[in-house]
Amino acid sequence: MNYYIVPENCRGCTACARKCPVGAISGTVKEPHTIDTAKCIKCGACIETCKFNAIIKK
Ligand code: SF4
Ligand code: SF4
Repeated sequence: MNYYIVPENCRGCTACARKCPVGAISGTVKEPHTIDTAKCIKCGACIETCKFNAIIKK
């Protein structure tokens, strides 16, 4: 299982990237962000932070 950002739902608000403890989320403001699954430690902080339900686990 990994965490992914659904680009169609991501508003590029940067909230998740600022919360991620290992810097696994990158992206430009107002552009869809992406999660580096190799860096992600699956803590779940990003899902809790995203107000737009853009982050999924699968
Ligand atoms: S918190 Fe959600 S909407 Fe904001 S950048 Fe992250 S995935 Fe995109
Ligand atoms: S689950 Fe945790 S480590 Fe993985 S991208 Fe989200 S905030 Fe970062």
